[in-house]
Order: sequence, then C-alpha cells, then structure tokens
Amino acid sequence: MNVAEETIFSKIIRREIPSEMLYQDELVSVFRDINPVAPTHVLIVPNKLIPTVDDIEAEDEAAMGRMLSVAKKIAREEGISEDGYRLIINCKEHGNQEVMHIHMHLVGGRPLGGMLKRESS
Ligand code: 5GP
Repeated sequence: MNVAEETIFSKIIRREIPSEMLYQDELVSVFRDINPVAPTHVLIVPNKLIPTVDDIEAEDEAAMGRMLSVAKKIAREEGISEDGYRLIINCKEHGNQEVMHIHMHLVGGRPLGGMLKRESS
C-alpha cells in the first residue's frame, strides 16, 4: 500500500504555517488561496489527507459532503451567493492538480465565463 505524502495543506490545517483560515471543523478546513484568480478564491479541504478524487473511499463520504455544505456557507458569508460562483476539483495530471491533497476551489465575485476552452479543430 502506498502511503500518501503530506503536502503544505496538512501543515496549514494543523496551523503550523500561516494562512487566512476562514473556517475549520472536525472534517474540513477552509482558507484563502495564496494566488487568487477572482475576488473570492478559497480552498475547501478535508482535514484527512486524501491525495486525489481517485483515492476517495466510502468512509470519506461525510467529509466530501461537508465540503459542499461548507461551500454554501462560505459563499453566503463572502456575499457571492446571489450572483453565483464555481466549485472546482482538479484531479491528477489531466485535471492539472498541483497539490496532492484534495481541495475544492470556491471561486466567485466576478463573471467567470465558460467552463473550458474547446480544442480548436
Ligand atoms: P490545484 O492546481 O492543485 O487545483 O490548486 C492548488 C491551489 O493551491 C492553487 O490555486 C494555489 O494557488 C494554492 N496554493 C498552493 N500553495 C499554497 C499555500 O501555501 N497556501 C495557500 N493558501 N494556497 C496555496
């Protein structure tokens, strides 16, 4: 069995390195992205180290569900619920995932445009 390697997110969750932490409970942590792409850009992260969506197990369902309900709460607190926002989870290489600890981006505060560029034919 492969043991997942900790990333910087584990240290942020344990508050060993600083972040702008917006919310934390027994299952998830929420902090602002260090390199925001929109007025609101926060990361919603399970406290347990799960490297990618491909590693989710049945026992992780509570944390995965909590990520969504906390996204709703934070979006309301950020004042972006009415206009809307986008939730993104990148997975592995084709998903362009950089940090191997599952995280959901909550992005909003401006119109975000279409989801993906089509490949030009
Ligand atoms: P990914 O490309 O893996 O979906 O997204 C990783 C995200 O983590 C990026 O948006 C990046 O800006 C953010 N990030 C990387 N390192 C740090 C850090 O040390 N602190 C915070 N707050 N965000 C980080």
